[in-house]
Amino acid sequence: MTRYTALKGIQDILPPEIYLWQKIEQTAKNVFSVYGFQELRAPIIESTDVFIRSIGETTDIVEKEMYTFSDKAGRSITLRPEGTAPVVRCYVQDRLYDLPSPQKFFYSGPMFRHERPQKGRFRQFYQIGVEALGTSDPKLDAEILLMLRLFLEQIGIKGLSYEVNSIGDEKCRPDYKKALLNFLSGKIHEFCPDCQRRYKYNPLRILDCKVKECIKLRVGAPKVTDFLCNECKEHFEELLSLLRLLDFPYVINHDMVRGLDYYTRTTFEVTSKQLGAQNTVAAGGRYDRLVEEFGGPPTPAIGFALGMERIVELLKASDRLEIPAPKVFVATMGATAEKEGLILAEKLREKGIWIEISYAGPSLRSQLRKADKLSAAYVLMIGDDEIRTGKVKWKRLADGSQGEIPLDKVPEFFENQGY
Ligand SMILES: [Zn+2]
Ligand SMILES: [Zn+2]
Repeated sequence: MTRYTALKGIQDILPPEIYLWQKIEQTAKNVFSVYGFQELRAPIIESTDVFIRSIGETTDIVEKEMYTFSDKAGRSITLRPEGTAPVVRCYVQDRLYDLPSPQKFFYSGPMFRHERPQKGRFRQFYQIGVEALGTSDPKLDAEILLMLRLFLEQIGIKGLSYEVNSIGDEKCRPDYKKALLNFLSGKIHEFCPDCQRRYKYNPLRILDCKVKECIKLRVGAPKVTDFLCNECKEHFEELLSLLRLLDFPYVINHDMVRGLDYYTRTTFEVTSKQLGAQNTVAAGGRYDRLVEEFGGPPTPAIGFALGMERIVELLKASDRLEIPAPKVFVATMGATAEKEGLILAEKLREKGIWIEISYAGPSLRSQLRKADKLSAAYVLMIGDDEIRTGKVKWKRLADGSQGEIPLDKVPEFFENQGY
């Protein structure tokens, strides 16, 4: 018989780790809704053009990493490699710009990139992201950064660094690009092959390169913030002053340009020293032109995405996660008791109490062993004697205390204990 395995670079997420995932998702939902962000569920597949248009033809994602295939009608379909483009496609398609601005959304779910498998990188990976569309007010940029920090604090991740930058807009970035190309032109052949390719198509991304040689070679490169036009400069300065007002501990990182073509003005990244080379926990920025690119009206917008796997990794190292366990294990001896046990189990489940029973009628001893293994808080024991007297024995496994209660008082007994 063939034994199947998951595809390369794709992982199953099982209990108990799944409880960490649920905690992260729940916390995100709680924090984001305080800021007025509502959930939007866009599909996982889109026309390939949606991603080429937004991410940019000459990016690594579009060139090498997309899961693209033809459907039965010969249309080119792509599994989403990121979450912003589908939200923007939906925003334009459903004319959400007719609603009051800004419209604020969050999403969570799997993304797909055909990357070289390496530690902490998956081909199906999960992101939680937010998008706010409809205003260029830097208050929104600040709000999003504060929301991100509140979320990371609430799930209990410490030792993070918040890096911000502005990469200008279509008015001022060409000047910067020129200056950068000028600086690089004499020595580009000394850079890594990737950077040499970027020099032609996407020179700003050379600033992002993590290759040691490249980092050394770009010392003294012109800074994008020195080239901002007045509007972009004002926008960035206003954001920084808001962040200071709100006690937000930012660091300016002039090299942070973000990998995707659609970013304008504010960009930011949250990094952790605990993660090694793949140290980005969350990243985002403005994309003031993207809605227009998709055929909508001029609509400045900003968003970020969080990498679930990295947050899980950070939490695993520090979190004392309470793994849920059954409240009550109903142990029975004999056919009549088994039936009474089933009826009782259902009554308790209706009250929202997690009940486990034993299957295939093993001995009492092995039922108790199982209750222990499951970390049940209580065992209820029902046998012929109990049926006769109408009382059941209970035992609390944590301290071994025990007692008896009338069968019909059992639901009350657990309700009184806050279950
Ligand atoms: Zn390089
Ligand atoms: Zn500008």
